[in-house]
Amino acid sequence: MDKKYCPICKEENRCMTSVDEQGNCWCFAEEFPKEIFELVPEESKRKHCICKTCLNKYKEELSEATRPS
Ligand SMILES: [Zn+2]
Repeated sequence: MDKKYCPICKEENRCMTSVDEQGNCWCFAEEFPKEIFELVPEESKRKHCICKTCLNKYKEELSEATRPS
């Protein structure tokens, strides 16, 4: 699998396609809940970046799951 694809949704992760003035990708500034890496296949860990869509979706699900009812 090409490293520019998200290991979760298999879409382009767009990592390093929009960097800031310091050359940092959006993912440098984002917080990744450690549980999200459980969704990443072992062979993709630390190789393939998770895309922003999946990160946001995951965070949404996480906050819904922890919301007191
Ligand atoms: Zn994705």
